[in-house]
Amino acid sequence: MVTSLDVLVFGDETRQDTKIIWLVSRQHAGEPMAEYATEGFIRRLLDTSDSMTQQILEKATIYVVPNMNPDGSAAGNLRANAAGVDLNRVWHDAPDAAPEIQAVVAAIAKTGCDYFINMHGDETRPFIWLIGPAVDMNPEQIACQNQFEAFLAEKHPELWPPPEEIRSGTMPAQGLSVSHIFHTYGCPSWVVELPFREPALGDTLLAEGCINFGRNCVEALLDVMT
Ligand SMILES: [Zn+2]
Repeated sequence: MVTSLDVLVFGDETRQDTKIIWLVSRQHAGEPMAEYATEGFIRRLLDTSDSMTQQILEKATIYVVPNMNPDGSAAGNLRANAAGVDLNRVWHDAPDAAPEIQAVVAAIAKTGCDYFINMHGDETRPFIWLIGPAVDMNPEQIACQNQFEAFLAEKHPELWPPPEEIRSGTMPAQGLSVSHIFHTYGCPSWVVELPFREPALGDTLLAEGCINFGRNCVEALLDVMT
């Protein structure tokens, strides 16, 4: 069973006047594209000569968990952790067999959360898609969710609207991280799904493409924060 989990912190944790951003990645063990995108996000935040990085770190403290499911990843699992739990179904009431979620839920409770991103991979659909919490949002929250998506869609033609079966609410809502975070903190929360399959426009989302997408998520966050 996993006994520790890495979280990277960018910005000044001692400041009280910053927005708090959490990005968690690869809850499902066999979705490495999520971690490549997160690597791009991290690389961008490490480049302090980048004006976008300077701007976002002036406004925000950013917490990143690159791999939420390290023992499941090591075991070669597709979804579950080594104890057999689908981590993205237990955020509302994490059992002892999901210490990863217990730890991250407790850490977020200490910091609060103003923006939340949850990186995944999708085995089925050959495009990137984003979706928010499966609950009612007010118009201002919907506008923020959509602005982030539209910003990324401008840069990435591989990003398409979410599938109808997802939009129509057949996804299980209880226990999903974005639903739990939205319900608890009322903040914008995105699931980002990167494809296993080659997009129609060509093989643009191998490791480097996912890294580039993650880099652009920094700018997309900055866009919705200003
Ligand atoms: Zn997933």
